[in-house]
Amino acid sequence: MLHSPWRADFPALAAFDTEHQIYLDNAATAQKPQAMLDALAAYYHGGVANVHRAGHGPAARATGAFEFSRVKVARWLNAPGPANIVFTPGATSALNLLAYGLEHEFKPGEQIVISALEHHANLLPWQRLAERRGLQLVVLPLLTNGVVDLDAARLLIGPGTRLLAISQLSNVLGVWQPLPELLAMARQHGALTVVDGAQGAVHGRNDVQAIGCDFYALSSHKVYGPDGVGVLYGKTDAWARLRHWQFGGEMVRAADYHTADFHPAPLGFEAGTPPIAGVIGLGASLDYLQSQDPNALNTHEATLHAALLNGLAARPTVRVLGQPQTALATFVVKGVHHADLATLLSEQGVAVRAGQHCAMPLFKHLGVAGAVRVSLAMYNDGADLVRFFDALDQSLAVLT
Ligand code: PMP
Repeated sequence: MLHSPWRADFPALAAFDTEHQIYLDNAATAQKPQAMLDALAAYYHGGVANVHRAGHGPAARATGAFEFSRVKVARWLNAPGPANIVFTPGATSALNLLAYGLEHEFKPGEQIVISALEHHANLLPWQRLAERRGLQLVVLPLLTNGVVDLDAARLLIGPGTRLLAISQLSNVLGVWQPLPELLAMARQHGALTVVDGAQGAVHGRNDVQAIGCDFYALSSHKVYGPDGVGVLYGKTDAWARLRHWQFGGEMVRAADYHTADFHPAPLGFEAGTPPIAGVIGLGASLDYLQSQDPNALNTHEATLHAALLNGLAARPTVRVLGQPQTALATFVVKGVHHADLATLLSEQGVAVRAGQHCAMPLFKHLGVAGAVRVSLAMYNDGADLVRFFDALDQSLAVLT
């Protein structure tokens, strides 16, 4: 039976064990390692202070810890430096920041290109921007395996394209998108490139310089960090193109009643008190992640994922959407409503997600009303899958 050497590092799993609960909704949010909980407790126990403002000792300590997390995030993403990293309340906020901050870059009739599988967070900000500025929102179609159709993309990405916004790893289909090819097409036409790394960053492809995008967004809570924190990486020249969006304390260099002058990135895009503890906690989660053997992690996740796919394939009424490559599988069962199945799984202590997974247009595109998603994390193990399949079989015996 596949064992996870990391399970004991996550105290929530022991709590779940006492409730006979298993957790397979990790693409929505992940449990937290003890190391991160310790960092949060140490910050709060040690005495809090606001960052970047006061000169007193506690403020210097909080600011130092906060800025050190920026350094850790920059290293983890292989960004050129900490000034390329802006903290936001989440990936959603990061993408909204871009859609407002870049608004002036667009002229009516120009194009923003996305794909058919985007999460609402990487669709609606661009859809609304397109409406505000009279732009065309171009949607790249998918092949049946869930990968963007590159032949179609070659025809659709053109001289009118000003921005490509694409998810790295689909939260529904679990497929990696061909970023090198897509980003090259966008660059060839001088378009900005935005990668939604909310899922991809969790599974080892978090080198932003290797990806080569202008902007990369992710959420702390999915990489085992606290919620309420997001990261927006940007190339230095890309940040310089962004106008300030939200205004308030600490993002301003000088202000008068009628005029003001603002800091560049990162501080200029972090108006108001940031999520200080959350940012410090994220740094601790990344330290924890980076202290693990990446090959062991990849092998564990791949073995578990293969076992998930094999188990689903062995059940003839189950149909998996697309051809998932990493971490998750989203499926429908012939003659069974996804909500009924999720309810029965939930009653048996199995936490999965059912519905349209914040990607309603994708479900329309696939002609499916909704589906059940099982998503894995480093702490899941073979016993979790045995419990899941047992619960699935019991549920299907009732429902079919
Ligand atoms: N993009 C993708 C692909 C996601 O899976 C999610 C979270 N489900 C988001 C963006 C938005 O992340 P958050 O809700 O943390 O802002």
